[in-house]
Amino acid sequence: MGTVTKTIQKTLKIKLVPVSKRDKVLVHCLLSDYTNLLTDALNIVVKNDVRSRKKAHEFCYRYLRERYPHLHNKYVEEAYKRALSVYRSYRRLLRKWMKHKRGNPPSPPSVDVNRVVDLHIDTFRIEEENIFKILRLSIGGGEYAKFIMLVYDHALRELSNAKVSNSKIIVDRDALYLLLTIRKNVEVFEHRNKLVIDINEDSVACLLVDYEKSRAVLFTISYKISRLRMNYRRIRRSIQRKVDNIYERNKLLEKYGARERNRVEDIVKKVTTVIAEIARMHKADIVRENLENMKMNSRKSSRKLNYRLQTLPYRKMIFNLEYKAYERGFNVVEVDAKKTSITCPSCWYVDKENRSDDRFKCKKCGFEFNSHYVACLNLFSRLNDGVVAIRGGRIYAYLEAGSVVPVDVAPDDPAIGEQVTREKPVLTIPKIIKNT
Ligand SMILES: [Zn+2]
Repeated sequence: MGTVTKTIQKTLKIKLVPVSKRDKVLVHCLLSDYTNLLTDALNIVVKNDVRSRKKAHEFCYRYLRERYPHLHNKYVEEAYKRALSVYRSYRRLLRKWMKHKRGNPPSPPSVDVNRVVDLHIDTFRIEEENIFKILRLSIGGGEYAKFIMLVYDHALRELSNAKVSNSKIIVDRDALYLLLTIRKNVEVFEHRNKLVIDINEDSVACLLVDYEKSRAVLFTISYKISRLRMNYRRIRRSIQRKVDNIYERNKLLEKYGARERNRVEDIVKKVTTVIAEIARMHKADIVRENLENMKMNSRKSSRKLNYRLQTLPYRKMIFNLEYKAYERGFNVVEVDAKKTSITCPSCWYVDKENRSDDRFKCKKCGFEFNSHYVACLNLFSRLNDGVVAIRGGRIYAYLEAGSVVPVDVAPDDPAIGEQVTREKPVLTIPKIIKNT
């Protein structure tokens, strides 16, 4: 088994302390300049209905450069890039609203409160001074501001042999933070054992095939994202109905939006840690469906597919999972997911009728099973040398060159629901797998 090199990206939040009073004043001036810059850029973008990066550059760059000659030119670029993305998401919301015309139309984008300055890689540098790490920020016109970075040990470890890319500074009243984006290459080993996952809205179905221990087990990790999102959808609707003052309404919507994002993110983080830990404990590479293929191959959109392609949690889940797996030295293998949920793993008969929601029943041979587990089995058999066979009602998984491993279903679906969202969740699942 060989090794592969993967690139991982991560954001570190680092507290900054201005070296002198002057540095503090400079960063506050920068924030207020950048906010004005952003406001101007957004006005231009909205007024001219700018939709591409190229057009944004044509309309904004010269004009803004002349208005803010004292700022580093990269701030101008970052500002119109952000204005463009704000305008794009407004247009998306508007299109959605036009379809149903329910509730109030989305309010046009504006820069009310801004606490963030986008930093292009050319505008900052990290330097060592005595025992400190110093952030040297270029304001423009030869002006620099310097900050001591309060870096924790774990972040220091992350920083070593990492490449820094575009980042942000957050000015939160008197506190200053750097959101530092780092990239690094990690060596990932290929493993014979496999952990196949099928991600759904409220659960991840898993198939762990362990050749060394000669056993395989199917289990589900459940969580409550759909209920949580439904609750917040209800809250949003009632805010839109009941609060007339636009300013108040936006403030409330933003508050609850942030709360929802945080809670979803929290679940995603915990679930992906659980999966990565299972992979580590059983020395298994993770196998997942190839999303891009699905997008191209499928004209008709099923509810499930829609969820996968359009919602944030799904992409976040995959992004997080890959990061955590690579970080631990495990590979993530993508396989073609086409028709994996409607193909019979026993006789390979393909029919949409084979599946209804959670149940799978083959129209041809009558094989009956949990449909998410069917998807896992099929994903496994799409591996280059993976084979699934069903004999005498028993499921077997094997690699063409390797030994045959019987597949069991975990007696209780482990770590169901709330457990995953409580504090230390990681041990629950591996324990249950060990018991089967
Ligand atoms: Zn069949």
